[in-house]
Parts: sequence; structure tokens; C-alpha cells
Amino acid sequence: MSEQASSPLSERARETPPSGIRRFFELAEEMDDIVSLGVGEPDFSAPWAARTAAIDSLERGRTSYTANRGRRDLRERIACHVTRYDLDYDPDEEILVTAGASEAVDLAMRALVDPGDAVAVPQPSYISYGPTVTFAGGDVVSVPTRAENDFTLTYDDLERAGAAEASVLVLCYPNNPTGAVMTRSELREVAEFAREHDIFVLSDEIYAALRYEDEHVSIATLPGMRERTVVFNGFSKAYAMTGMRLGYALGPPEVIDAMNRIHQYTMLSAPTTAQFAAIEALESCDDAVAEMRREFDRRRQFVISRFNDLGMDCFEAKGAFYVFPKCPPGWEDDEAFAEALIREERVALVPGRVFGSGGEGHLRVSYASAMPELKTALDRIESFVASN
Ligand code: PMP
Repeated sequence: MSEQASSPLSERARETPPSGIRRFFELAEEMDDIVSLGVGEPDFSAPWAARTAAIDSLERGRTSYTANRGRRDLRERIACHVTRYDLDYDPDEEILVTAGASEAVDLAMRALVDPGDAVAVPQPSYISYGPTVTFAGGDVVSVPTRAENDFTLTYDDLERAGAAEASVLVLCYPNNPTGAVMTRSELREVAEFAREHDIFVLSDEIYAALRYEDEHVSIATLPGMRERTVVFNGFSKAYAMTGMRLGYALGPPEVIDAMNRIHQYTMLSAPTTAQFAAIEALESCDDAVAEMRREFDRRRQFVISRFNDLGMDCFEAKGAFYVFPKCPPGWEDDEAFAEALIREERVALVPGRVFGSGGEGHLRVSYASAMPELKTALDRIESFVASN
């Protein structure tokens, strides 16, 4: 007699959906000669000086845990670095070094969200926000942003979606997946809404260094916002250090302390080798970042103009390394388009709907690939559009 084992999984685990991006990678993996513009990570390696600092720390045997909040010398450099965005944070009480911005997002949700709390998530948006709200027991209030506003978030968008009920609002500019940025005056509207409805803001600024036409503005610098905002940033994007898993959170002492208490039990401390690399990155790699930014900008202009020439409306994304063109005329369904494109022309893009409401009918295209690959991909898309 065999007894059937019941599922050991929690309800939460059962209800966590697989990432919508993954299915396209699986399709891509089965094929040869594929060009993928699907991934959200730089094709560059980390600057050599940062890698050398990591190697040097290993040679010296510096392989122990660090302070829970991260090495103090790193927190000091972060404090100094963020002054370029007019942000002023105390290294002892207001900065927490985390295992990527991803950990910081998760910690902030767990520190701020009680079961049943509403969290406003503007969409299309990075795919982690919704699940981390759910892990904390909160409910996502989806706030669609609109292509006609270049995917910026407006006071009206927030009001219309019922975000006044929320206790927390997530903000991500420059945005993944649209590449949208927000100006100071656009952020003022959002700040006004947050103050009026006593909403705490989680501002994911991981692409702050990748703005192509003007300077990044953090919502935390607007009047009355510093005390109700946690800012996330990290080393994955600007310094091409995705695999090093290092990020940080900046915020009021009470919230950073709560996040650190959770971090103490789940992570202890962020990766030590990466912390040494990060210190060097902040100290000496501004030129390397500027060079990568110039190259991203060249690619950005190339892909935007090619998509527009193909009749795939592509608004002028001004940050991060994504563009978000529309499917060509005759194609309504972004998922069907992406699937046909990968099968017929071996080009992998991500359907916009994966990133939530407002993304339907669009495609996320990462230009964090070398120029020859981008050219091949666009040539193949051109022949696909011509023959379908
Ligand atoms: N936020 C956004 C908007 C991202 O695009 C990403 C990476 N794709 C992350 C956070 C996660 O970054 P990290 O590697 O620092 O965890």
C-alpha cells in the first residue's frame, strides 16, 4: 500500500508564478543562432579596477562576514557618491548594503507592509515588485501608466487607479521596461499625491547613472519626501556588476534599522568580495561608467530610429538600456508577435504584457548587446515585418 505524499509546498510557493521572461529564454535556449535582446544586463564586464580590488581582497584572505550594514568604508563612499544626486545620508544610520537592489526591495516590503496593506505599483514595471508585495502579505494596486505620456506616472494615473488607499508606492525611474525617465516637475505631482495621502515611497533608482539627456532627479530630494522615501541603488547596471550581487538602500533611520534587522537573520551581510570591488568602483570608475553610458547612448539612438523606420512606434526612451516599441501595424498581440519572431527569425524580445497592465501591444528590447548583434536583430525584424 503506497500512501500518496501531500504537497510539501506552502500556499505562497504554489501561488508564485514563474517569471514571464523565463519562457522566452527557454525557447531561445532550444535554438541555434539566436540573437537575444531579452536580458536586462550589460554586455560589458565590470571595470578592471573593480575586478582587481576584488582579486586583491581575496589574495589578502578577506573572506569573512562584514558588519551587517556593510563595511563602513563602503557606506562612507556611498554617502559621498549619492551627493551627486543631492542626496544626503548618514553612513551609520541611513545606509544599508544589500545583496543586490533585489534584496533591498524585498527587505523594504517586509519592513513596511502588513498583511492586507495595499501597495501601489505603477506598470509596466520590473517584475519583482508584485511578488515581493505578495511575500510580505500585501495586496498590489496596479497603476497603469500610458504610452501617450511616455510612460511617466501622473497624479491622475494614481487617482484613477485608487492608489490613495495604498500605504506604499513603488517608483522606478529610469524605468525597466520602458526606459522612461521623470523630470523634477513630473515628480512633484507624485510627491504631492504621496504627501496628501500619507504614502511611503520606495524609489528604485538602479538606473540613475544611465540617463542620456539630462541629470537624474530623485524624488527623495523634493520637499517633505526624504522622511517618507527609501531609495534603492546598486552596482549591477552602471558598473556592469550583476553577478557580484551588491546594492544598497538609503532611508530614514527607523526604516533602515528595521530592514537591517530582517537582513541580519536572512543574509547576515552582503558579499564581502563584492564590497571591496564596490569601494573601488565608487572611487575610481567614473570614467569607465561614462564610457559605457556613451556606448549605450549610441545604441539607443540606433534602435529607436530603426524601430520607427519599421513602423514600430518607439517613443524616445531617455534612460536605462531598454526601449519599448509597439508591435508593427497588424499585430495587436505582443506575445504572439514575440513568439512568431523567435520561431521565424530567431530574435528574442520580451512581450510587454509580462510587465503588467499598460504593456500590452509593446515589446521590451534591451540594447545592452553589442552593435553588430543589434544590427543583425534589427535586420531580421525588418525582414519579419516585411513578410508578415
Ligand atoms: N530593479 C530594477 C528596475 C532592475 O531592472 C533590476 C535588475 N534587472 C533590479 C532592480 C535588480 O538589481 P540587482 O542586480 O541589484 O539585484
